[in-house]
Amino acid sequence: MGSFSIAALSEPAATAARPIQASAESSDAPIALSEAGKISRMVLLVFVDGVGIGPRGPQNPLDGIDSPFFSIFADEPFEPARGGALAITDARLGVEGLPQSATGQATIITGRNAAAHLGRHLSAFPGGSLRPLLEAWSLFRTLGDRGLRTAHANVHPSSIARRRVRTVSATAIAAETAGLPLRTLDDVRAGRALHHEFTNESLRSYGCDVGLVTPHQAGERLAAIAAGVDFCAFEYFLTDAAGHDTEARTARRRISQLDDFLDALLASVDGKSHVVLTSDHGNLEDLSSGSHTLNPVATTVWGPAAADAAASISSLCDIAPAIAALAV
Ligand SMILES: [Zn+2]
Repeated sequence: MGSFSIAALSEPAATAARPIQASAESSDAPIALSEAGKISRMVLLVFVDGVGIGPRGPQNPLDGIDSPFFSIFADEPFEPARGGALAITDARLGVEGLPQSATGQATIITGRNAAAHLGRHLSAFPGGSLRPLLEAWSLFRTLGDRGLRTAHANVHPSSIARRRVRTVSATAIAAETAGLPLRTLDDVRAGRALHHEFTNESLRSYGCDVGLVTPHQAGERLAAIAAGVDFCAFEYFLTDAAGHDTEARTARRRISQLDDFLDALLASVDGKSHVVLTSDHGNLEDLSSGSHTLNPVATTVWGPAAADAAASISSLCDIAPAIAALAV
């Protein structure tokens, strides 16, 4: 694993600016150059809502489809595709009750235990209650304060026609409060942003004038967006919706699209960069109910220091510090 130091992962985000040396095991893939000609060792966070690690069985739509990224089962070994390193990740955060989206996502993007901060798990969208936490501690803020370039690759809900999407995620609030530009439908058309449902089928159903893209193309687009910055986040929500709908066929279609998306993405990211895939709580892996689960989630890391980064992650609180240590 080269000279990457695990100590860097345990430092507070604000002081974890230690450069990570290139690994001797790095691939020969070309190194992306930023507009300024700087060598990019980007970190890309890919968030997929509501996918946990549960047992096999008829209730679990991941059983029997052999997804290279998501068919992970309790008490079974799993080797992620393309050399990823897996971290089994607690989503309960030491707080009673079912883990929920607003607090889980706020914890992922800040590294602060948002559920403990509020004293409960908060569902869906954070509104104002988590805004100060997101404004002060998000990776967009803390990495930006280190002089790193950050981006939220998703189109902002405010730009979507008919304003069919009025909700703003924790990560979008974090990006907004850090002063990042809000990506628009024009950015989607130009390949500079993605809707969370990255094929644009749902945008078109809202009446938006955007072309369809394949999951493969969308993965390549996200890699290109991320190559221009030091840290980029992308978020996807339809896996959680499929879990709430308890619809196995839809769940498997979403996972299949994500598999194609992630495979193309990972094939397009340069060999010095890292990709971190995670979720906020279980749901899709148990369609016997339409509720979230208490199961852990999978965090998978790809890149030269993937194994050490994954080894530092045991709960949602550990993801942001790991990313802060990887970002240079
Ligand atoms: Zn969620």
